[in-house]
Amino acid sequence: MNSIPGFARHQAPALRRFAGPADLHLHSNHSDGTDTPADVIRRAYEHGVRTVALTDHDRTSGWGEAGDSAVALGMTFLPGIELSAKHGPCTLHILGYLFDPENRALRDEAARIRLDRKRRAERIVRNISKDYDLGWADVVAQSNPGATVGRPHIADALVARGIVQTRSEAFESILAETHQYYEALYAPETETAVRLITEAGGVAIIAHPAASGADGLMPTADIERLIAAGLGGFELGHRDNAADAVQRLRRIVAAHDLIVTGSSDYHGRGKPNRPGENTTTDEMVSRLIARASGAIPRYPRASTPPTDATAVMQ
Ligand code: AMP
Ligand code: FE
Ligand code: FE
Ligand code: ZN
Repeated sequence: MNSIPGFARHQAPALRRFAGPADLHLHSNHSDGTDTPADVIRRAYEHGVRTVALTDHDRTSGWGEAGDSAVALGMTFLPGIELSAKHGPCTLHILGYLFDPENRALRDEAARIRLDRKRRAERIVRNISKDYDLGWADVVAQSNPGATVGRPHIADALVARGIVQTRSEAFESILAETHQYYEALYAPETETAVRLITEAGGVAIIAHPAASGADGLMPTADIERLIAAGLGGFELGHRDNAADAVQRLRRIVAAHDLIVTGSSDYHGRGKPNRPGENTTTDEMVSRLIARASGAIPRYPRASTPPTDATAVMQ
């Protein structure tokens, strides 16, 4: 992960301000989004978002560019990541906010995941190439140099080759987890991922926790173990969440006074999700900032005061 001096926690504390609406989950072409980090922030601005986080999969390299873009537009920028994890046989995504980007353990784990992502993508392509005219060079052609490689890049290569029409069609067929071509991804256990983010001074939030419905929710005892490990809350506002499972999670949130976020999970042209389609309340953004000790947000300059600003002392 890159080291971004502007996010160091030792900056002088000051009266900080941010404005809603806040969208805290967006991807750039440093992972599997299609826009540059600066363009992601601009798109969010155009959709009315005023506080934004970049959460590329398993990397932080887009923070500098995204933060500069946000500040130039008078927005507040929260540095973030979407860390791959697993819970038993299930893949889980943990959003991490405002952690120290220099934290050795978290940096090393993210690097390990990225390395395995590349090897795993190569294995999937090898499997597919037995039946289709697709090679690794096709995937490289679809990804930004150094990007966190994922199935979306393989999907784009399949589209470019005319094997499928869209990313979604690829995910529903050749790239499905149930398909013979699929290969699992190395990822830390969920509890480890939560600890890594928390011990780096960040706030860990489970992304789209109800995406696989009530049947897919982990047992309450497991959730309580994660809370004991430092889990900060859940992304309950996400288009993939099932309503029945969200209801169950709301009860857990209330019982433990957790943070609730809502976000778009924007991927540019890669997904239909639009910036600002779900948002996080000012109160919850304030709680996130107050809970974190690893980094501080980048705020708009005093010369570009945001409207509807909420004062946050830290
Ligand atoms: P991977 O991490 O390589 O297993 O790929 C999963 C990623 O693909 C997730 O981060 C999703 O954002 C993305 N994804 C999943 N389904 C789709 C879809 N139907 N269309 C586009 N992207 C998707
Ligand atoms: Fe993604
Ligand atoms: Fe995700
Ligand atoms: Zn995401």
